[in-house]
Amino acid sequence: MADPIRPKWALVAHGGAGAISREQLSAEQEAAYRDAMSTAAEAGAAVLRAGGSAMDAVEATIHILEDDPLFNAGRGAAFTAEGRNELDASIMDGETLRAGAVAGVTTTRHPISAARAVIDGSAHVMLGGEGADAFARSQGLEQVDPSYFFTERRWRALEKGLARLGLPIPARPVGVTDQAAGKATLVHEEGKHGTVGVVARDALGNVAAGTSTGGSSAKRWGRVGDSPIIGAGTYASNKGCAVSCTGAGEYFIRLGVAHEINALVQHKSLSLQAAADHVIQDQLTALGGDGGVICVAPDGQMAWSFNTSGMYRARIADGAPLVIGVYKDDA
Ligand code: ASP
Repeated sequence: MADPIRPKWALVAHGGAGAISREQLSAEQEAAYRDAMSTAAEAGAAVLRAGGSAMDAVEATIHILEDDPLFNAGRGAAFTAEGRNELDASIMDGETLRAGAVAGVTTTRHPISAARAVIDGSAHVMLGGEGADAFARSQGLEQVDPSYFFTERRWRALEKGLARLGLPIPARPVGVTDQAAGKATLVHEEGKHGTVGVVARDALGNVAAGTSTGGSSAKRWGRVGDSPIIGAGTYASNKGCAVSCTGAGEYFIRLGVAHEINALVQHKSLSLQAAADHVIQDQLTALGGDGGVICVAPDGQMAWSFNTSGMYRARIADGAPLVIGVYKDDA
């Protein structure tokens, strides 16, 4: 029997936090999101079960979420006010504190892999814009036409958002394939946000965290949120914990949420849940921000905390069943 306190491996995933309530989600949408979270978490669990590293599990799980048009990351990403998809991602290895991040990529199919490639393929931590895509290309990472990321639902959300702001609606990108059909019709616009993230603890006791997003809908001027910022949207240390965030990025940057939770665990010996709750329910709420976090510690503790009506989430560990949550009152 696996020790329930110290499972051999553990993984927690999120698919964004926001205005996600029973009144807003149809039964079909809810089922699609639960199913997608479950597929992704099981894929990550398979990596860990086979003895794979926390970094590999994080990347593999995020690939699935980036490819799924339901989530605001990779395909299905939110649009900028100019009608583009500019993607951000970061990943961190808790054993070595090595980290990589990209901001504003537009042609790299899996931004999380570009972030990871930054670790070994460059002397840097964070690359931005065209340079980040050029780097990803040089690393042999799959490139796509920007229209690959297009989904009708997110485009309509952009149009609505721009109308609210009194801003002009840009021309639809040329050459888009209409992905209004199939799964993409089930996209739920959870407010202006949405993001995906994964934290994992492997059989060696190492933790890792990764986050990938299209950022906030109708963002302007090259806006970058917390997701690609190490310490804000993502952090991992074997001395504390691994954290991935989702929510109003500006607030997460100002609080350094991911590092703050790690610091409370590392230096104040708070339990993972107490640290996550303190930063989200107290600090973030007091500042007026909304969103949530997922966390895992080297001893296998898992936690999530959010101050929105819902957060798509999943957790699974050696000897513990898969748990999926959508609304506040789910498990
Ligand atoms: N945190 C992301 C950002 O601000 C969006 C989100 O997680 O909802 O870009």
